[in-house]
Amino acid sequence: MPLNSTSQKSPPAFLLMEECCRSPWKTWQRPFRMAPGVYYVSGNNWVASYLLDTGDGLMLIDTGMHETLYLLIESVRLLGYDIRDIRKILLTHAHIDHIGGARALKELTGAKLYLGERDLLFLHERRDLIGGEGKYTCGLFEPDELYNDDRPICQGNLTIHTTATPGHTPGCTSFRFSVQDEVHGRRLVCAIHGGLGLNITNSDFERTGLPHSLRDEFIAGLEKLDRWHVDVTLPSHTNQYGILPLVDQISEEYNPFYEPGVWHELMNERLERVRKIIKAGI
Ligand SMILES: [Zn+2]
Repeated sequence: MPLNSTSQKSPPAFLLMEECCRSPWKTWQRPFRMAPGVYYVSGNNWVASYLLDTGDGLMLIDTGMHETLYLLIESVRLLGYDIRDIRKILLTHAHIDHIGGARALKELTGAKLYLGERDLLFLHERRDLIGGEGKYTCGLFEPDELYNDDRPICQGNLTIHTTATPGHTPGCTSFRFSVQDEVHGRRLVCAIHGGLGLNITNSDFERTGLPHSLRDEFIAGLEKLDRWHVDVTLPSHTNQYGILPLVDQISEEYNPFYEPGVWHELMNERLERVRKIIKAGI
């Protein structure tokens, strides 16, 4: 399965963000299953949030924007779950499209919030780097826990292994876990890279004051994650890997997201792009 061939041509993130926030209902995406107990629930067709059914309560990866939060809540309801059963919320990185709903969701669910330590800089000192140019809502919140890659996050029958992958943001964190596929009797490894956007190579990057070493860390992270075996790739944005056109193919027997080659393709596509940009001296 090739990556979304339009991924390199999709509109800039700020335009997609604007569409999500100005007219959230126009971006509505019904929830769907990507692996047993793993559901796409952001409610919009741009930035992903994943609901994980651990067999003992729920976990959520990323919250989407504050403006689209009602669509996420509706997605969870449509799947037959109660939003108040979310016990842990794992944030990939402190950009507004991933953390915008964190404050409200924490209040609604009482869930523990997790974040990468180096992204505290964005929450405490550099809120200008959260994104959205102050046009959108991002309530204040504090994480309850910081990731420790030596300490997996366990709940019910899920064990989430975290890996710091600085670059897109300093505290950007990636996740890997396995679920049981009862139909085919095998374990499926699912993974999400915390942030694949190439903002570190934008001309605007200079103005952030963040160190250039983030580029090296980004590359090192991609190389490290490329060594993982991953059966189901969970993109953090739908324009990284075209999952939405596959939704109609989902059935009890067939999972169109079971594609072990996609992960390597995605890591290598990003590696190639970032190296090319750096080589061009941008
Ligand atoms: Zn981001």
